Amino acid sequence: MSPLWIGTSWKMTKTLAEGRAWAEGLRDHLTSEHGGQAPSGVQPFVIPSFTATTTVRSILGEDSPVLLGVQNAHWEDEGAWTGEVSVPQAKDAGAQVVEIGHSERREHFGETVETTRLKVAAALRHGLTPLLCIGESAEVKEAGGSSAFILEQAAGALEGLSAEELSRVVIAYEPIWAIGEKGRPATVEELVEPFAALGGQYSGKVTGLLYGGSVNLDNAAGLLGIEHVTGLFVGRTAWKLEGYLELLRIA
Ligand code: PEP
Repeated sequence: MSPLWIGTSWKMTKTLAEGRAWAEGLRDHLTSEHGGQAPSGVQPFVIPSFTATTTVRSILGEDSPVLLGVQNAHWEDEGAWTGEVSVPQAKDAGAQVVEIGHSERREHFGETVETTRLKVAAALRHGLTPLLCIGESAEVKEAGGSSAFILEQAAGALEGLSAEELSRVVIAYEPIWAIGEKGRPATVEELVEPFAALGGQYSGKVTGLLYGGSVNLDNAAGLLGIEHVTGLFVGRTAWKLEGYLELLRIA
């Protein structure tokens, strides 16, 4: 069976000292409790801010079982794109995963289905795992359009990929109404239908189908029990190392 992907994006949080403490704590935990391996059946991953990428990489070590990611990357390999970071640069800094299309990037930074498609292709071109985030707003959900909306977002970003390329993609379904301080935890019942839709299309064809949005220590086990869910993408609960370690235990 494929491992459950359990990971966190730090978003725009943590100083280097805070990030260092988190990464050292995780490394030490895996060394003392798991012989330096990932917990059985789990693929851990962490996505710090760009500024902490190389620090976290050097703390975890080159052969770490924890995958390291970046929260965004440009689709061009290099050039006059001030303020951007390319996939080859992210790879050079030690990243193996590129988060693409988080709803905050779509809302505040002009990410579109077309730019997510270009970024997925760039990540695959350079051998990194695209972690494609999709998710509908409360309005779309209330109108009954969740499944159609997320399938369209995914199809647009993954258009034209070969079966081999698709097999290297991870999809994270993160409904906007369930994310962050303004969100509320989704119930298992609310997620069954969207995951049935996603599973029908992508189960067995991609590396993973993750759920994200107000995951906490009380709801994690139930969320992992939803059919087609193969991991969790977590914000606030995992920013404290203890929370993240507890999620690894639950998985
Ligand atoms: C997110 O913003 O993608 C997220 C999952 O955050 P949280 O877990 O804090 O809702």
